[in-house]
Amino acid sequence: MKRVFNFSAGPAQLPLDVLIRAQEELLSYQNIGMSIMEISHRSIHFKKVIERVEELMRELLQIPDNYKVLFIQGGASLQFSMVPLNLFKENKHASYVHSGSWSKKAIAEASKFGDIHIIASSEEQQFTYFPSFQVHQLNENTNYLHITTNNTIEGTRFTCTEELPKNGIPVVADMSSNILSEELDVSQYGLIYAGAQKNLGIAGLTIVIIREDLVGNTGVDCPTMLNYETYAKAESLYNTPPTFSIYMTMLVLEWLKELGGIPEIAKRNIEKAKIFYDFLDTSSFFSSNVKKADRSLMNIPFTTVSKELNSLFIQIAEQEGFYALKGHRSVGGMRASLYNAMPLDAVLELVAFMKQFEEKYA
Ligand code: PMP
Repeated sequence: MKRVFNFSAGPAQLPLDVLIRAQEELLSYQNIGMSIMEISHRSIHFKKVIERVEELMRELLQIPDNYKVLFIQGGASLQFSMVPLNLFKENKHASYVHSGSWSKKAIAEASKFGDIHIIASSEEQQFTYFPSFQVHQLNENTNYLHITTNNTIEGTRFTCTEELPKNGIPVVADMSSNILSEELDVSQYGLIYAGAQKNLGIAGLTIVIIREDLVGNTGVDCPTMLNYETYAKAESLYNTPPTFSIYMTMLVLEWLKELGGIPEIAKRNIEKAKIFYDFLDTSSFFSSNVKKADRSLMNIPFTTVSKELNSLFIQIAEQEGFYALKGHRSVGGMRASLYNAMPLDAVLELVAFMKQFEEKYA
């Protein structure tokens, strides 16, 4: 069996050890004679799984006690609607930082329910930097501030946490593509959400970390399944949750804990990204157009010197086993996603391949 080097932006590759364990446990989970997919979400076996995921999330991210950890379906995209539906007060006013294609979608959804103020945007330069913002720009009656901490498509990341408001306006963060990749002070945020299919496991599950006072205070008549209170009160077991996705997240979190948790993975992620960016910066053939200070550690868009060579690169890369390097259609070129599960060796192999390609075609 041959596995390729998989640079997909998501669903993304999983650690091999996680896949092997899932395979071992697939037919009979802990010798019960059934798989985890085939048992009740109210069984003791599954309850232990969901409780373990919450415990590991709390431990790895040091989530304070006054936060709930919720397991929701509908992808990160459903959060674009759930956030305004739950956090709007009567005046229905929110502020958004517009940093890429995903914030565009978040803004479009929230605008259906209330008044949205874009406090900073990098759209005029195709989102090639993370726009900075000042707390004093915020309307004091705004219900929350929304940011996307890693822009999966454009390859930028938010680093200036000192810019976050400390005046009680809750910060909502879409961390779909960088959760668990670096140190994070959860207490600076009112709500964090992330789809699981990059650093947390597989598609089907979205994790929401929410400060308790933001649950159950919506000024909107909110459908039951879109209300955080439903999940908080029932410990995410109001209805059938995505059981297999939650189980896979347990395996991923156990793998992460085993290798040393966030401090260790953050070190590895910085090292992998540095190797890649250092190569791009020394090459006269490959390049990145993202502002250096704002470069993502997870998603690295890059190009050669022409569209034709980009296509040729993607084609030959795939033949050589470097998979899913095609950039998002809105940006073009290439993109390498280096999530937690990406081994250092794979990055070194890719850079070596890029050097050879440059020598041949430059
Ligand atoms: N936000 C970000 C930052 C993303 O990268 C994505 C895509 N994976 C989404 C939101 C949408 O996620 P989903 O497909 O889970 O709805």
